[in-house]
Amino acid sequence: MKKLCIIAISLLLLTNFNIELQAERQTKINEIMNLITKEKLENYLKNIISFGPRVTGSEECRETAKYIYECFSSFNLKTSYLNWTASTNFKTYEGQNVEAVLEGDEKIIVFNAHFDSVANTVGADDNAAGVAALLAVAEAMSRFSFKHTIKFVAFSGEEQGLLGSNEYAREAYEKGDEIIVEFNADMIGHAKSKEGERKFRLYATEDADWIVRRIEEINNATVGFKLVKGNISRRYGGSDYHSFAKYGYESIAFFEYEWNPHMHQPADNFSNVNLNYLVNTTRLIAGIIAYLGDAEIEKPYLILSKPKRGEIYFNGNEIYKLKNTATIIFGKIFIEAKADSPYKIEKVEFYIDNKLLHVDYEAPYEYEISKISFWKHEIKVIAYSKGKHSIDKMGVFWINFKPKQ
Ligand SMILES: [Zn+2]
Repeated sequence: MKKLCIIAISLLLLTNFNIELQAERQTKINEIMNLITKEKLENYLKNIISFGPRVTGSEECRETAKYIYECFSSFNLKTSYLNWTASTNFKTYEGQNVEAVLEGDEKIIVFNAHFDSVANTVGADDNAAGVAALLAVAEAMSRFSFKHTIKFVAFSGEEQGLLGSNEYAREAYEKGDEIIVEFNADMIGHAKSKEGERKFRLYATEDADWIVRRIEEINNATVGFKLVKGNISRRYGGSDYHSFAKYGYESIAFFEYEWNPHMHQPADNFSNVNLNYLVNTTRLIAGIIAYLGDAEIEKPYLILSKPKRGEIYFNGNEIYKLKNTATIIFGKIFIEAKADSPYKIEKVEFYIDNKLLHVDYEAPYEYEISKISFWKHEIKVIAYSKGKHSIDKMGVFWINFKPKQ
């Protein structure tokens, strides 16, 4: 009886503790959302526009990077320039990304926006507005600490083909960084009609569905947009989110609902940004990042760590690094998956061309296979944890003359 009483009291205390913790977290999220004000966003937006067109490689683009660096530093975030060089269409570009880190555990949440523009415009909506949101959210969140690491990143080279973000995502992938999700803000400040003001677009990769549900909850309790949802493909995409999606990371991209007719035109200026709309879109983004900063990760984190995207292999050994995500394999395939969950990983399944070949119940999750092959195949892994599962898959060119052993 005494034992039962103690259990009952402990349970009661624990429940109370949980309720208190929940309430405390909710207050923190609300405070962060309320720190996103029209004055702040207007100020950041005008400062970024004041540099004029910010074409990657230009002096104006470098000056903008410096401004972003100074803002991040003033929030006491660990700030750095990340220089990159990349070639596309027989042209080589040099640029800078600017990263600010709010340090937590090894799980990473990335929020990014590109600060470069095309030549003939100040790019107010594309994408000074997204950068204003990035700075405002970083400033608000920097007043608090979080369980997980949050990285705020401003990219250049977007307009030339997602160059800055591609370098960033590839480096993170090669280092094995555990990015839980990447959020992209590109064109989030244009709304002319009443309908445009009421709606906001949200595109997500498949395994980010649980985060989308949390965004909906936060949205319904606060800014109350009618959210228009869509899917992110891992094969193509028109903004920096694609760089993360193609390396297997989960991403969520935010866009204004209405088509902006001024995109890449001189009229993409301050007067065509709807500041009240930008306040609400930024608040919602701040709300979900603040929530996730302390949240339990609901779906297993899963990534194919071998073969790696963008490598050439000979019998399991990396022999050459490519600058893209193509993977070419000579000989046997050695597959490794990195799976992580706050709960037990029950199993990891290994598939080739949708055929289940192996199940692993213990880490390290790995499998090797040899069969005669001359062409493209798809490797897929699925990790299961507490009734939920995540998928990662990649295409490989596979040349092998040895049959099954
Ligand atoms: Zn853009």
